[in-house]
Amino acid sequence: MEVLYGRLTPSEFKASLQKAPIAYLPLGTLEWHGAHLPLGSDFLQSQGFFIKLAQRVGGVVLPPLFLGPDKELEIDEFEYYGMDYFGYAPNPPRQLPGSAYWVPNYLFSAIIEAILKQLGRAGFKIVVAYGHGPSTDYFIKNGEGLGKRFDLAIFTLSRPEAERKDDMEFQGDHAAMIETSIMMALHPKLVHMENLPKDPNEWPLAVEGKDPRKYASAELGDKIINYHLERMERILNDQLAKLT
Ligand SMILES: [Zn+2]
Repeated sequence: MEVLYGRLTPSEFKASLQKAPIAYLPLGTLEWHGAHLPLGSDFLQSQGFFIKLAQRVGGVVLPPLFLGPDKELEIDEFEYYGMDYFGYAPNPPRQLPGSAYWVPNYLFSAIIEAILKQLGRAGFKIVVAYGHGPSTDYFIKNGEGLGKRFDLAIFTLSRPEAERKDDMEFQGDHAAMIETSIMMALHPKLVHMENLPKDPNEWPLAVEGKDPRKYASAELGDKIINYHLERMERILNDQLAKLT
């Protein structure tokens, strides 16, 4: 079943909207995700997941957004973003190859408001947005207010803090066990474990979480994906029932 927004004809779009007025927005980056994962890993995971979710619940998947906010540090008039300097980052800060996504918070917020306005106008009632951590955090923090403003019910895949200790949070690390496992399940040909250091004592550059060389597997990726598919299917079906 076709669920990618850009590939639908107007009549297919109308039929989809009538069945389930849900838009899925993959929040991405073009960002260093270890030497073993592709730069688009953030949206490849959320987009891949949303395609499966849309096929189960209905709704359409928007093109991924590759611009996003992140922590920022300026040294000698040069800007470093997120993994360039934060967490298990290179020390001293260093521009990681391939990262090209950063926008300041005010601009990200303006882009999201424009997207939500257009989605409401097009007839959607529910928006599910997820992916890159700081982009998702924006929705967690502002989702309720934005929902009221644009007459939309807004969701992420994020769970309450207390439930997150189980290593099952979707994209809940950076290029480590969780993200590597999800990529192995969704896009096995894009994962290159052979690019990681052979010496187990050498920590892979700018990878944050449990060691993907030791713990990542396609089986774990499938387990995480299926857990969140079932959880979101329940949540969205409840919300759809409220609409009618
Ligand atoms: Zn990521």
